Amino acid sequence: MSPSPKKGIRVRFAPSPTGQLHLGNARTALFNWFFARGQGGKFILRIEDTDTERSEDKFEKEIIELLSWLGLDWDEGPDPKNHKKDLGDFGPYRQSQRIGIYKKYLEKLLSEKQAYWCYCAKEELDAQREAMTAEGLPQKYNGHCRDITAPPKGKEPQVIRFVVPEIEAEFKDLIRGRVKFDAALFGDIVIAKNLDSPLYNFAVVVDDALMGITHVIRGEDHISNTPKQLLIQKALGFETPIYAHIPLILAPDRSKLSKRKSETSLLSYREKGYLPEATVNFLALLGWHPEGSNEIFSLKELARLFDIGRVQKSGAIFNEEKLRWMNNQYVRKLTNEEILDLLGPSFEKHQISAPRDFILRIIEIEKERLQTLEDFFIETDFFFELPNYEVNLLKWKDQSLPDAEIALSKIKEVFSSISELDFRQEVLSSSMAKLAEGRSRGEVFWPLRTALSGKVASPDPLIIAEILGKNEVLRRVSLGIQKISE
Ligand code: GLU
Repeated sequence: MSPSPKKGIRVRFAPSPTGQLHLGNARTALFNWFFARGQGGKFILRIEDTDTERSEDKFEKEIIELLSWLGLDWDEGPDPKNHKKDLGDFGPYRQSQRIGIYKKYLEKLLSEKQAYWCYCAKEELDAQREAMTAEGLPQKYNGHCRDITAPPKGKEPQVIRFVVPEIEAEFKDLIRGRVKFDAALFGDIVIAKNLDSPLYNFAVVVDDALMGITHVIRGEDHISNTPKQLLIQKALGFETPIYAHIPLILAPDRSKLSKRKSETSLLSYREKGYLPEATVNFLALLGWHPEGSNEIFSLKELARLFDIGRVQKSGAIFNEEKLRWMNNQYVRKLTNEEILDLLGPSFEKHQISAPRDFILRIIEIEKERLQTLEDFFIETDFFFELPNYEVNLLKWKDQSLPDAEIALSKIKEVFSSISELDFRQEVLSSSMAKLAEGRSRGEVFWPLRTALSGKVASPDPLIIAEILGKNEVLRRVSLGIQKISE
């Protein structure tokens, strides 16, 4: 039962499949992966599913899919014979498949009297707590069952408690420096519901030791668990890994990033059309930045540059505008075909079917403006259906509606005389230049833009016209005229 020897850096990402993968956890995974990959270390994925009531297969599957989407891979897994389901070469470790291992260590602590069965029922614990509150004492287990030698008559064992020594637990955190806790305030903590149901703080200690984890990099929300884990490690004779607790991701108002204020699951950002490369880049720079002012980094570069010593102590502010900007930087780098492939599955969702070439031309002109892939469907809806707009949008600034109608009628007349073959931006442009003579460009271009797109901001209306083709353009211009005369 001795832990495996340490060879180089070994880190782990240890999500609980009890809900969707939170952005903060995704960033924890990234920091661990960077840390390992940047130094030739190992990255281990461990699914912490000891909470059988709340753990669900669908969440585990989602976590694994999302890690792969981000481009993260892991190095080890349990014996393939032990697979719950087919997950490629090796699946991740799952705590639910290691129950026998924890059991041995629980028995060891019990036999050494470093842990004990607690028989206190819920009502008794409630009464103890109330009494302590009344006396103004900190709430903790009063150690009632610690020295019991035989099971009390008529009582069932409830949980296994760890004998917490009344000492000051201290550790050095790579990000936060020295951290001290007064263990006397904990009381004897519960480490298992029974021999086959260990709880988080216990299972994590056994696993970190047996898996030879050298560095535990995790969210700051776990910092108060660390002293408990240190004491359990000591009791089991395990070495203590090096800890690094990374700051929480905060909402713009510095409150904890929560579902109430914004989307917090990584999946929802994928669904909104953020690219994995941009998401990685954005999450990596939440709470950390390499030297210099560059902001665009690939996964590989991030692993090379990552320096845990540069991770900030204070919370990192989440700013979706920045993510949108960053995503746009990556969308621009894609070819039109690549964007089409990425958009592919969403066409059905938006009930759009159109020829490939037609869509590729739209991508070409919209690409620079797309911040998310979903923007495509917002920005380009008018290519696939008639635009819906208020009649007043047809007039430019102080232009009157009758003037806008005259402009549209002239456009219609001139465009009708251009052959379908010549219906190209350059040809349309010289006709429009003639129409605009003696007035402002806006007075002819604006009504045309509105009639074609229904939008106040769009690509050049003449490019839109070229893509829509002569018949459709004439139809939409006529509809604009009709709208004014109605
Ligand atoms: N399973 C824990 C969680 O999902 C993480 C444990 C750890 O990193 O120590 O929050």
